[in-house]
Amino acid sequence: MDNKRIIIALDGHSSCGKSTFAKAIAARLGYIFIDTGAMYRAVALYAMEHGAIESGIINEDRVVAMLADINIDFRFNPERGASDIYVNGDLVEGKIRTIEVSNCVSAVSSIAQVREKLVKMQQTMGERKGVVMDGRDIGTVVFPNAELKIYMTADAKVRAERRYKELTAKGDSVSFDEIYENVVSRDRADMSRAISPLRKADDAIVLDNSAMSVEEQMAWFDREYHRVLGC
Ligand code: C5P
Repeated sequence: MDNKRIIIALDGHSSCGKSTFAKAIAARLGYIFIDTGAMYRAVALYAMEHGAIESGIINEDRVVAMLADINIDFRFNPERGASDIYVNGDLVEGKIRTIEVSNCVSAVSSIAQVREKLVKMQQTMGERKGVVMDGRDIGTVVFPNAELKIYMTADAKVRAERRYKELTAKGDSVSFDEIYENVVSRDRADMSRAISPLRKADDAIVLDNSAMSVEEQMAWFDREYHRVLGC
């Protein structure tokens, strides 16, 4: 591939394989992959562990008050071929993907001050380009001038099935219905929130991967990458 380093913004619904796709693109181009959902999940986990979320009820003022105490950083893990997320020096990668965190992350991510802090961090991370960033508002808010914007989606049942397999393979005891409900309600919350809702940027290209293998998605990416960059 050519040497022009760009920003690739990858937005879309939850559990449609954005991270897997983003990781594969980053490996192919020698880019850094940044999973912004992990950052929102890390804030939600911290809030859960520090008494700002109890029985699923979020105390927004407490979440905002604790933001200054939350330092997030990513460190590359060669075994995963991606970066692990740390909060105040603690590795939290394995703790942020539980159903408990998934159930409260959309509410945490709709708090203005949370978004402000994380968006600034994301913009700094992309300053030198050569990044694939996945999230909900990357092409619309974080990098509205990204050279390549992809909007990813897939049928909600297919997404829930994929997430169910992933969690049960890890030994989590969850039901398919619970996962499906979480996928649908997060879509609703992410698309209807007042600040930076999930929406397709006008200049984004759509990838519906409901019936596509990872190889087919990569072939699609190669075609689009060359077409958009004119190389
Ligand atoms: O991508 P993932 O499903 O891990 O993201 C978790 C949640 O974080 C999303 O459902 C959404 O509420 C929030 N998020 C966001 N903006 C981003 C990335 C994630 O609001 N850029």
